[in-house]
Amino acid sequence: MSDQAPAPIYEIYGIRHAVNTVRTRNNNFIIDANPTEPLQLDFFCWVLVSPERTIIVDTGLDPEKGAVNAHRQVISPVDAWIALGIDPQAVDTVVLTHAHYDHLGYLDALPNARFYMQAEEMAYVTGPWMEKPLFRHAYALDEIKQLVDLLHQGRLHLHGREYDIADGVSAHWVGGHCAGQEVLRVRTARGWVVLASDALHYYEELERGIPFAVAFNLSDMIAAHDTIRALADSDDHIIPAHDPRVTAAYPPAAPEFKNKILRLDLTPKNAR
Ligand SMILES: [Zn+2]
Repeated sequence: MSDQAPAPIYEIYGIRHAVNTVRTRNNNFIIDANPTEPLQLDFFCWVLVSPERTIIVDTGLDPEKGAVNAHRQVISPVDAWIALGIDPQAVDTVVLTHAHYDHLGYLDALPNARFYMQAEEMAYVTGPWMEKPLFRHAYALDEIKQLVDLLHQGRLHLHGREYDIADGVSAHWVGGHCAGQEVLRVRTARGWVVLASDALHYYEELERGIPFAVAFNLSDMIAAHDTIRALADSDDHIIPAHDPRVTAAYPPAAPEFKNKILRLDLTPKNAR
């Protein structure tokens, strides 16, 4: 008999904070047979909740920055956190899966949090590759400066490639999309779910073995598919960051949150 506490189980809330309805397939995939066909891009950030812990994963998109690229806000992540009963002032743990501007809005709304990010991502966004417009275009300078501020305030922990955020939540470097891209493995009631973040924008990347159009390193991006599959209990446990199929497959956290806040720890529709 063990008197140890049971392993924490997390609920995963996917906040669909923005959408882009004007993109075509060639905006999303480097090579495609139907380049001018529309392909919607949804934008997610996430919240992990156990009986003991609340962990914010990425912080969404500043709507003014998004509007420049026709990304339309669906719900402010701050409003979503509050709707879920989370006081942003009380949040102590925020994981940043990478530093692209659509994952780094609203940092100011979490004044008491400690942030966690791959050390390689910080080296990348403050290093020589940022001389190249191709690699820096998805970063916002004011947000990178905020990361430097947080680092020097002792509020940003830059960790190595594999890192345990909490019992049941671990970060795993994959690179590819950007130098410090990571995925998160989360223990849920249905098993190990992987939030692939932007290591997968769409399920199609995994299904067809193809890269997304925004890439730092193509070989790392393709190798990430194997890492993700090794970490997840099945392909139904893998969650891309930008796929409208996620919105279609998972139930809302409550009826009033339809298409805005989803329960990703539950079994998806049409599970294989
Ligand atoms: Zn993204």
